[in-house]
Amino acid sequence: METSLPSIAVLGGGPIGIEAALYGRFLGHDVKLYEQERVGHHVEQWGHVKLFTPFAMNRSPLAVAALRAQDAAWQAPEDEALLTGEEYLRRFLQPLVETDLLTGVIHEQTQVLAVGRPHLSKSDHGCGIDRKDASFRLLLCDSTGKESVATADAIIDATGVYSQHCHLGRGGVPARGERQITGDIDYKIPFIGKDRSCRFAGRHALVVGGGYSAATSVVALAALAESVPETRISWVVRSPRGEEGAPLFEIPGDPLQERVHLTDRANRLAMGSDAAVNYLPHRTVEAVRRLRGSGAFEVELCNMREAADDLNCPVTCDSILAHVGFRPDCTLFSELQVQLCHVSEAPMKLAVHLVEQSATDCLGQEVPSGNLLVTSEPNYFLIGNKSYGRDARFLISMGLEQVRQVFASIRGDANLDLYRTMKE
Ligand SMILES: Cc1cc2nc3c(=O)[nH]c(=O)nc-3n(C[C@H](O)[C@H](O)[C@H](O)COP(=O)(O)OP(=O)(O)OC[C@H]3O[C@@H](n4cnc5c(N)ncnc54)[C@H](O)[C@@H]3O)c2cc1C
Repeated sequence: METSLPSIAVLGGGPIGIEAALYGRFLGHDVKLYEQERVGHHVEQWGHVKLFTPFAMNRSPLAVAALRAQDAAWQAPEDEALLTGEEYLRRFLQPLVETDLLTGVIHEQTQVLAVGRPHLSKSDHGCGIDRKDASFRLLLCDSTGKESVATADAIIDATGVYSQHCHLGRGGVPARGERQITGDIDYKIPFIGKDRSCRFAGRHALVVGGGYSAATSVVALAALAESVPETRISWVVRSPRGEEGAPLFEIPGDPLQERVHLTDRANRLAMGSDAAVNYLPHRTVEAVRRLRGSGAFEVELCNMREAADDLNCPVTCDSILAHVGFRPDCTLFSELQVQLCHVSEAPMKLAVHLVEQSATDCLGQEVPSGNLLVTSEPNYFLIGNKSYGRDARFLISMGLEQVRQVFASIRGDANLDLYRTMKE
């Protein structure tokens, strides 16, 4: 495609990468999107989980217009619909990447291994060097392991965080023995069925974490225990945030009903509404090991209360669900000068803004202005879940807005308002 506009490489085919590619093409840029697997690969992995934001918050008017122009028979989900990840992918993201605007743009099964500047490494700086005049060089790898090189004038990195989990052990350091059994631990929310065919049925699951992912698994396991009563759940939480020691904080006046129900149900389970759930607050994981023969795990928990009589207590369980968060993979741009926050691993300017709003729930966050998305590496933009680093408050609606802000920066036009992402 011949154009005088900057060419753009979008890294990652999640909801936000796809929106960036769509918006870039709409504005006439030469865009290529590289996705390591299939589009929506991360969403697919939590496809059985229901989004707590309604569909209206998870789509842009531009995307809806592109879908309608492509196929008049396309049935948009209701604005209020709470879709599962799988429905969101099948009914929205997958048809979207088939629209004419994205023809030839999406390169699936193409992992981005590294991004740099052809003639400048990370350490090149000083007089006479202007990094913004150089293009980017990307090292790509296809599903057969074959490597190739691509170039672009600007990079939009939307590779998410779901590929890299945090660790189970105390202080985020791997628990003793964790590295040896990483492949046996569920760091992502597993599908939990409701009958005996489910791998958790009639067994003892240890869930670690005090966020919505842990709550989702505990609620699903408790539902399983209703039909298969031998099922047992231990729920380990480091710092309870709810009232009277309940694990989850209840957001006053929370308008997201799905989140209200999840919080309420999970807190009640923890506080003793169901004998199948054994709530273990103020605990961290010291060590894990697989027991020979039975395949069970032994988990050594540490009670953080000084007076506790079970300071280091082993628990035997059949599975470990470690819902301890995810973190961005920053090795991709290790030869670039992207300054990251030492707390969140988010790009510095945005991270400072997020820290200033740390007391605010994700829905109450101010939309960051475009200059907060400009990183210390000219024309390298981090958006989507990855732009929040370890901060778990990212919402798709925020990412859709970021896309518009980034293009305003790329084009040097702060008033760019051709197709507002959220307002129709
Ligand atoms: C269980 C769960 C429920 C959630 N519910 C909600 C909700 O209700 N509402 C909401 O607003 N948000 C929700 N989120 C948060 C967030 O909005 C989603 O995670 C969303 O998918 C993030 O979109 P993204 O495009 O930034 O990244 P992702 O969806 O994570 O997509 C990143 C893509 O990049 C690809 N990739 C990674 N590395 C490379 C590489 N090196 N080369 C090429 N491709 C690469 C991945 O395969 C992936 O497809 C939820 C998250 C989870 C985990």
